[in-house]
Amino acid sequence: MSDKTTTSFMRSLCMGRIEQDCLFPFPVLSADQKEMLHEIAGALEGLLGSRTEDFSQWDADGDMPAQFIEELKEFGMFGLIIPEEHGGMGLGNMAYSRTLQEVGRYDASVAVTIGAHSSIGMRGLLLFGTDEQKSRYMPKLASGEMIAAFCLTEPGAGSDAAAIKTTAVRKDGGWVLNGSKLWITNGGFAEFFTVFARTGTGDGQGKMTAFIVTKDMDGVSIGPHEDKMGLRASSTTSVLFDDVHVPGENVLGEEGLGFKAAMQILNSGRTGLGGGSVGGMKHLIELSTRQANERKTFGQPISSYGLIKEKVGQMVVDCYTSEAVVTMVGGLIDEGCEEYAVEAAISKVYATECLARSADEALQIAGGNGFMREYPYERIVRDCRINRIFEGTNEILRLFIALTAMNDVATQLKELSRSMKGVFNDPIKGFGVMSDYARKHAGLRIRRGDIGKMTGLDPSIQPQVDIFEKKTRNLAQAADRILRKHGKNIIGKQFATKRLADIMIDLFVMACTLSRVQASIDANGVEKASREIEILKVFTREARIRIKRNFRRIDNNEDELLKALAVDAFEAERYRWDTI
Ligand SMILES: Cc1cc2nc3c(=O)[nH]c(=O)nc-3n(C[C@H](O)[C@H](O)[C@H](O)COP(=O)(O)OP(=O)(O)OC[C@H]3O[C@@H](n4cnc5c(N)ncnc54)[C@H](O)[C@@H]3O)c2cc1C
Repeated sequence: MSDKTTTSFMRSLCMGRIEQDCLFPFPVLSADQKEMLHEIAGALEGLLGSRTEDFSQWDADGDMPAQFIEELKEFGMFGLIIPEEHGGMGLGNMAYSRTLQEVGRYDASVAVTIGAHSSIGMRGLLLFGTDEQKSRYMPKLASGEMIAAFCLTEPGAGSDAAAIKTTAVRKDGGWVLNGSKLWITNGGFAEFFTVFARTGTGDGQGKMTAFIVTKDMDGVSIGPHEDKMGLRASSTTSVLFDDVHVPGENVLGEEGLGFKAAMQILNSGRTGLGGGSVGGMKHLIELSTRQANERKTFGQPISSYGLIKEKVGQMVVDCYTSEAVVTMVGGLIDEGCEEYAVEAAISKVYATECLARSADEALQIAGGNGFMREYPYERIVRDCRINRIFEGTNEILRLFIALTAMNDVATQLKELSRSMKGVFNDPIKGFGVMSDYARKHAGLRIRRGDIGKMTGLDPSIQPQVDIFEKKTRNLAQAADRILRKHGKNIIGKQFATKRLADIMIDLFVMACTLSRVQASIDANGVEKASREIEILKVFTREARIRIKRNFRRIDNNEDELLKALAVDAFEAERYRWDTI
């Protein structure tokens, strides 16, 4: 049995090892946390349930009234993950994610306001803060007296976070901070900022360090409220630092380890966005089923038509499987697992894309009404668009998933491992640092017998287990083969990397769903779990087809032609073949 806390399920999977203990049994909340969640859900219904018109108005106004933020504070919404000894609710990751689900059912701007505070704004303090820092700030963060924001992005540094230019230079036992941060959620009313800056001589070349900066420090100023496509009621501003004197004791974590801290904060906070996405999907299923039952065409409710059933059925599959993945990642973090970065990235990519698809289909089911501002659909489509961009774009996360998950394969291929260390430890930062890799080196031998098995699962889901095991074998073979074939050039092979990431996403979702369905069978028996088994069947069938296609297209594709067309378009900066 492997140590659950130090094993990454996906990294092992790329080696052909199925670490079943990591994902089975499906995580469940403690009785205490369940009870607390019921109370929170009830309170949220009271606070948010009757506010549909307000949310729509605030979206049109592009603002959230200060009075409402005060109400969120009174409800304790800013203290969700803060330990009880500091005045918070002390929710674990799973319960926190479930709370954002509840909020996400009502309004995405509210969910992101709460999420930016807990998922990223103050999470660095929770993860790396000293006891003194925690006692100083946590009670105020729990009560909402201080709302937190996460300040990483700059005009020249988004995905390439390592390119930040904000500097912090030592002076009088403290630091002098200069620079500007862009698109900071909660910027308009935050009092507590987790800020990333380059330390050293101020030439912008030093290592990154994280700092706690508060709004009352001289030289901190806030830019205007951004006019956005979606999440319009949430606050997004620039935050500027002009010779801000930051006391020495406000360094967060270790000096020089700010990049790692930023990535850890983002990894750890991903279940918040995943939870909000699942909540959004549940809301969309409610809206769409009601709409489809009510709307009649050709004398029939549209819910009777196959094409509408296909959409709603898929929404159910997307919601159930997303919930399985997001809950699983929350459970892994709560159980003290340290190796969950790949799995957390998968949960973000998968849940946000399922939500986008559900939102689009729900709008389609509503027909012309869906396009009208009077109805909620167009706002939901606008609101959820950003999910695929912030907290790591889904493109960057796909590269991260594939490259990080293959870490142990690369470790086996020793020379490759040595030369690729920087890339696999820090793929986002380390693109392009691999040295030549000898193709000649012997590597993995993934044969039938070397592959792990899943055991002890109900016979009713054995066909799905078989598919999972077979595709795991294919993945391990492909990871080994691709690393041998491309060596350092894997970094430039984004088409292939993306396909591997998509295969890994499908396999992780399949494994989490198997675990969830097995838990339901254990609790209720096969008959009662039959609908859930159907969801598993649908997902697995569809995933098998996608995985097969992705494997085939790693070698057999039109990538070079597509790239040539893109290069041509980049050169011309226009479409070349207009008909007039
Ligand atoms: C509403 C909103 C709220 C936000 N809140 C915060 C916040 O609270 N704190 C904070 O620090 N930031 C925040 N951000 C910033 C957000 O995290 C960044 O927008 C995001 O990281 C992407 O960076 P970018 O916009 O500079 O895009 P870019 O990095 O310029 O990327 C542009 C496109 O190129 C792709 N791309 C980039 N590099 C590669 C590559 N190597 N290979 C393939 N494709 C690539 C990207 O996936 C993307 O599609 C927010 C942004 C918005 C819009």
